[in-house]
Order: sequence, then structure tokens, then C-alpha cells
Amino acid sequence: MSVDRAARVYVAGHRGMVGSAVWRHLEDQGFTDLVGATSSEVDLRDQGAVDAFLKDVEPQVVVLAAARVGGIMANASAPADFLADNLRIQLNVMQAAQRIGVERLLFLGSSCIYPKFAPQPIQESSLLTGALEQTNDGYAIAKIAGVLQVQTLRRQYGVRYISAMPTNLYGPHDNFDPTSSHVLPAMIRRFHEAKVTRAPSVTVWGSGTPRREFLHVDDLAEAVLFLLDTYDEPEPINVGTGEDLTIRALAELVANVVGWRGELDQDLSKPDGTPRKVLDVGRLATLGWRPRIGLRDGIAATYAWYLRHVA
Ligand code: GDP
Repeated sequence: MSVDRAARVYVAGHRGMVGSAVWRHLEDQGFTDLVGATSSEVDLRDQGAVDAFLKDVEPQVVVLAAARVGGIMANASAPADFLADNLRIQLNVMQAAQRIGVERLLFLGSSCIYPKFAPQPIQESSLLTGALEQTNDGYAIAKIAGVLQVQTLRRQYGVRYISAMPTNLYGPHDNFDPTSSHVLPAMIRRFHEAKVTRAPSVTVWGSGTPRREFLHVDDLAEAVLFLLDTYDEPEPINVGTGEDLTIRALAELVANVVGWRGELDQDLSKPDGTPRKVLDVGRLATLGWRPRIGLRDGIAATYAWYLRHVA
């Protein structure tokens, strides 16, 4: 059931952190016919543009890694945009894919689709069993709709489309903007700048007590191909490490990797978000896939990338 390495694969969102990692991995694995389009070439929110593009390209496989994404503040301040843009992108790409006969499609969701107080580690069966965390509910509802779109397309048309739910991701091509980014790239930047300016203290948002799990995007890219080769069920499948740590411990680790020493201050005006988010990755482990990149090594590699490309 492995995907033919000569198949034409459209990676939607190939300039983003996830899409670019998937692209690199597919190339490494011998795929010879990859297709991408930038958002200025094809606006995936525009149904007509997506229909025309997919009809023209006729991919056999689609990896749907295009999305409007952001950290806790970006999500909390523009929830309507996160809801609308993601709904449009998914609906347009998946509907057009089914119509032109795309054989295999993998939709990428997020661990924030699960209820705020889901039992930890979070199993796939927790989906739609409770209320969501409010700081990213617009994004989460859109991603839940994407999971349902995959399931209903399978049921109605018999297509072999699947969805994967990655935990919090980091790596090259991440967004390192101080306000709209996720916590890990925000910390890399803030601790690096503190090191350069010899600042005695660095501020970390919230209480530092929430717990999060982090997966390097190169591991996710491997999992994406593994799932395309082996998985064909309607249930979304979690992709993570199954290990979490507090935001405070993450700050200490990032400071250590970057090589800055000093005081950690709290900014309690910023939201904590969900208290804990760690995935149960038992189903994926049973299928035979495990991540390879440890958190310290992954942060060090990402910091090296940041120094070369952003700093
Ligand atoms: P979340 O997993 O959806 O909550 O997304 P984030 O990665 O944006 O935030 C994770 C946690 O890190 C939250 O508890 C934030 O309050 C905390 N955090 C601490 N410092 C920062 C920061 O500089 N940026 C962001 N985005 N979050 C931070």
C-alpha cells in the first residue's frame, strides 16, 4: 500500500514550517514529482483558484499542510480569521481533490482539537467529548471540521483520505516573531537577544506552570510519509513524543542551549492557555513509528538554523 515514489504529490503549504519539512523528506525518500504553489500563485481560500489549479496539476497524492497558524496571542486576538481561513483552505482543497480523483490525501490538524480538560495523555477517542480551550477555539473548530470532512468524504465517496494530529511543533522555517509566534521559537529569539545585549532578565508569558509537548518538524515529516504508506482509517491519529514539560522547564532548557544565564520573570497579563496538552501516541507506536529527535538536540538544531537565517 506504499505510495508510489513516482506519484505526483502536491504539498499544500510547501513554504511553511511543516510543508517545507514534508517536501525535504519526500525528496530525500526519492519522490520525483513534487508540486507546490505559493499563496500569491494560488490563494487556497479562493475556491475557483483551487479548482483550476488542481484540475491543471492533477496530483495523485495531496499533503494538506497549508493553514493559518499562530501562537496563543495570535489565536486569541484574531479567532474569526483563524476559523474562516482554515475552513476555506480545507474545504476548497479537499473538495477539489475528491472531484478530480486524488487517490490519497493527508490532512494535518492539531492537538488543540481536543477538549481543554481531556484526560492526559490525550487519546484520539477524546475528540468531541468536552468544551474547548477558548484561546484557540476558532482554529480548533476549523481543524475539527477538517477531521469530519475527511471522515465524511471517506463515508460518502470511499476515498482513502486520512488525518493526523501533531502536537506542538518547532523547527526550521518556524515563525520567530515575538508576538504572533508559538512559545518555543519566541523563547529562542528572546534568549538569544538577551545573550547579545547581556540582559540580566528575560520575561516569560503566563505562570510557567502549563505543560506542553514538543515535536521536531522533521520527525513529523517522517510520520506523514509513514502514515501515507501504512494508515487508512477514518480516525485521526496522534503524532507526538508522548512526553511533556512545564513552560518554566522549557525556558530553562532553551536558555541553557542558547547559552544565556539570568533571572526569569513572569508576565501574568498573558494567558496560560490549556493547563496540559500531551498526546497519547500509543496507536502510532503500535503501527511502528517513533520520533527520533530529542528535545535538547532539536532545540540546538533550531537555534543553529535561527542564527543562520533569522538573527
Ligand atoms: P498553545 O500551546 O496553543 O498554548 O500555544 P503557545 O505555544 O503560544 O503557548 C504555550 C504556552 O507558553 C502558554 O502557556 C503561553 O502563555 C506560554 N508562553 C510563555 N512565553 C511565551 C511566549 O513568549 N510566546 C508564546 N506564544 N507563549 C509563551
